[in-house]
Amino acid sequence: MQGSRLILLLAVVPLCAAPEERPARVLAFYSKNVEADHVEFAEQAVRFYTDAAKRGHYRLETTNSWDDLHADRLKGVDLVLWLNDSPGKPEQRAAFERYMEHGGGWIGYHAAGYNDASTKWPWFVRFLGGAVFYGNNWPPLPAKLVVDDRTIPATKRMPAVFVAPDNEWYSWWPDPRASKDVRVLMTLDPSNFPIGLKDTITGGDVPVVWTHTKYRMMYINMGHGDKIFTNTTQNRFLADAVRWALQKR
Ligand code: ZN
Repeated sequence: MQGSRLILLLAVVPLCAAPEERPARVLAFYSKNVEADHVEFAEQAVRFYTDAAKRGHYRLETTNSWDDLHADRLKGVDLVLWLNDSPGKPEQRAAFERYMEHGGGWIGYHAAGYNDASTKWPWFVRFLGGAVFYGNNWPPLPAKLVVDDRTIPATKRMPAVFVAPDNEWYSWWPDPRASKDVRVLMTLDPSNFPIGLKDTITGGDVPVVWTHTKYRMMYINMGHGDKIFTNTTQNRFLADAVRWALQKR
């Protein structure tokens, strides 16, 4: 009896042992050959998230090559960031689709979500909740944002309303809020309208941050120029968004 108990114990213990903790891996993609204001944001974002990674106990890797979007490179990567661009080649897109359809994580900023008739990537439009770029304000301006949803860890430390620093804000048509799978987290407050001088957003529903609930993803419209990281409230959200995406694994 004693002996068989011992054997049972020996057999069970290794299965119960905690798996070895490894730091989460975040891989940030960005282009250097795009609009200067978008490169500027990406470079600041790399510095910001390098710091945030130390506090959040994850590892940040960066690449300027979209050819790194392939299965071998994505193996073991817990979260992909697109800081200022999106992939153009069919094989890069296909690798990303496979990654996301099998539990991968994504946060895209500003120009990463830009798509129009020339993009020709219907999967990506569905992934964004149907959103297609419609318009923008110019020059970049601060804006009052409503935090629609403060129930998830990414936004729970946010106030109901705050003023976000200068950004080029995008509007979308179709409106991603119309999708039953989309949860909008932040929206341009109507008091901003009209916003812009050369290009103006005159009104309407303008979601700024949202998630497609069938994926571990978030789109964040902030990401134009060198002012994005000048606001501590917004910085807290930008750091928490990555932690949220990693916690959801
Ligand atoms: Zn821009």
